[in-house]
Amino acid sequence: MSINLLDFDAKGLTGFCAEIGEKPFRARQLLRWIHQAGEADFDAMSDLAKGLREKLSAAAVIEPPKVISDHTASDGTRKWLLSVGAGNGIETVYIPETSRGTLCVSSQVGCALACAFCSTGRQGFNRNLTVAEIIGQLWWANKALAETFKSEAGRERPVTNIVMMGMGEPLTNFENVVTALDLMLDDNAYGLSRRRVTVSTSGIVPAMDRLRERCPVALAVSLHAPNDTLRDQLVPINRKYPIRELLAACERYLQSAPRDFITFEYVMLDGVNDSVAQARELVQLVRDIPCKFNLIPFNPFPDSGFRRSSANAVSRFRDVLMEAGLVTTVRKTRGDDIAAACGQLAGKVLDKTRRIHRSIAEAAG
Ligand code: SAH
Ligand code: SF4
Repeated sequence: MSINLLDFDAKGLTGFCAEIGEKPFRARQLLRWIHQAGEADFDAMSDLAKGLREKLSAAAVIEPPKVISDHTASDGTRKWLLSVGAGNGIETVYIPETSRGTLCVSSQVGCALACAFCSTGRQGFNRNLTVAEIIGQLWWANKALAETFKSEAGRERPVTNIVMMGMGEPLTNFENVVTALDLMLDDNAYGLSRRRVTVSTSGIVPAMDRLRERCPVALAVSLHAPNDTLRDQLVPINRKYPIRELLAACERYLQSAPRDFITFEYVMLDGVNDSVAQARELVQLVRDIPCKFNLIPFNPFPDSGFRRSSANAVSRFRDVLMEAGLVTTVRKTRGDDIAAACGQLAGKVLDKTRRIHRSIAEAAG
């Protein structure tokens, strides 16, 4: 298999250039061609000498994942299904707003963490995405949107913000996610500020500490419950990293974070975690942490076993948090008609874990 240059950040490309006997500035040129110009054809890289282009073609490829489908919802939300081989597919969603354009990026095929209310988790886990497959989502979106995007509201580029909130748990695919983050932040690639790139995690405590040291982008933490008893049920990884440890990791993260608060995500499940008493318990729980809340009305999927909280329950819950001084937003549901909302991303996951579990069970008789 040849080397895919989409797998490299600046450091990786510099190393690659050294291996083929080229100077470091070539890495910068390549980065700009690949990520800023969206070029996948070495022959189109006009400021590289012909000999060098031939050398590159012989040694490497620039290969993003292939687009299988492309849908736009009535509200402008756009969703791509990308093939990542062997029958697996991942989804990427673009959410246009007046002053910004947010791309929701996937990090894994499926997810092993099996949160009770999440469609991705329901499907099981196949594998981590490569750097090329993660950054390839942004590469594609930029290219696809450039065709339709007109510099709206003084905005120069279609994608101004990234949220790692698609399929998968980004912090269990740490190295590849961090390399992709490096590219998102690199001025020779996408040049986004740390504040505009958000990693969302279900709370992988040791990896939160590593992210703080390696690449402290904005952090969103999926809390979803005011106590361990309930969180153990909704977010099973809580049994390994309980709330007290998670909140301590949030406090440590804040020492390096680009924003002076953590965003807590809280999916609103009817009759499960949406009472006024639970809102009060939540206020007590986070009282020592600078934070904001993002309430996400549950997005249903077939056989989920959950219902979305009523609009009244959501606003009562929000009011309790706001009265306690916590900035709270309610996430607007976008892309409903194309199943592009949080937790609905399904892609195509050929689940390995469950197959393995099944075969173990079968072998055990
Ligand atoms: N694995 C990471 C990031 C991907 S999920 C995480 O869990 O944080 C992004 C957000 O969508 C998380 O807060 C997740 O809990 C939430 N989510 C999952 N399923 C959902 C659903 N069906 N409705 C609403 N939000 C959901
Ligand atoms: Fe995985 Fe996040 Fe879904 Fe939980 S909510 S199963 S961590 S993708």
